[in-house]
Amino acid sequence: MRFAIFSDLHANLEATEAILADAQEKGCTHYICLGDLVGYNANPHECVELVRQLECPVVRGNHDEQACLATSSRDFNDLAERALDWTRKQLTEEDKQWLSGLPLTRQVRDFTIVHATLDTPAEWGYVFNNLDAVASFTYQHTTLCFFGHTHVAGAFVRDDGVKKVKLEQLAIEPGKKYFINTGSVGQPRDGDPRAAYCIYHVERGVVEQRRIKYDLAGAQRKIIAAGLPRLLAERLELGR
Ligand code: ZN
Repeated sequence: MRFAIFSDLHANLEATEAILADAQEKGCTHYICLGDLVGYNANPHECVELVRQLECPVVRGNHDEQACLATSSRDFNDLAERALDWTRKQLTEEDKQWLSGLPLTRQVRDFTIVHATLDTPAEWGYVFNNLDAVASFTYQHTTLCFFGHTHVAGAFVRDDGVKKVKLEQLAIEPGKKYFINTGSVGQPRDGDPRAAYCIYHVERGVVEQRRIKYDLAGAQRKIIAAGLPRLLAERLELGR
């Protein structure tokens, strides 16, 4: 059994198709989506459709939530806000109904999934450092939990204390807890512009980080053609 676990697609269809093709090639048997299907990039409706077709567990992200409202209830930065306004017009009523009905957290087999944090999932806090991770671990009752939101791939491990480790090939050891960020498919912000996702090899007890090249120029062209802010196209190639 192999799970392809991915987050923060952000309406980047080219990146989403590329990671799904890689997952298939790698023999993934199950799929998990950690939210933020929409926002920033040019194919929100198509990304929602693609994920719905997978019929897999999905949790709601902050952009999914805001895209379903008539106007934003939270302070988003100007770039995100302009993309959200545009996104609201692209999504069908059915898309919005489906997105707004998604749960904030879920347990799948022996692991948990959430977009932002387990301590206050509806507050959309960011887990960047060990201290942030400590709060979330308090509410983590499974060995593994996968999350997104920061667009920065990496893992926090709780043993005696909490430490941050690189993902690559992470062997899951008994007695420890793992809070794993799969990185972002559609808008990585860790300096690597390739689409990020993870494969959880259940029998081997290994979480593997994948970084996949995709048609980045194609995604950029669509952003500009849609009239979305140019900066959203430019940041893709910087991985920021
Ligand atoms: Zn996001």
